[in-house]
Amino acid sequence: MIENVVEFFRNLPPKKCTECGETLSEQHECYGTECEKCAAIK
Ligand SMILES: [Zn+2]
Repeated sequence: MIENVVEFFRNLPPKKCTECGETLSEQHECYGTECEKCAAIK
């Protein structure tokens, strides 16, 4: 069971910006669901 959970998180798709669809790194998590550029526009 534990291995399945690890596999689940490993296979999660990377977060994408809801505005432009650009893949977000985990460093951008504080910007919510938008990339740095789109977050700066608003
Ligand atoms: Zn964006």
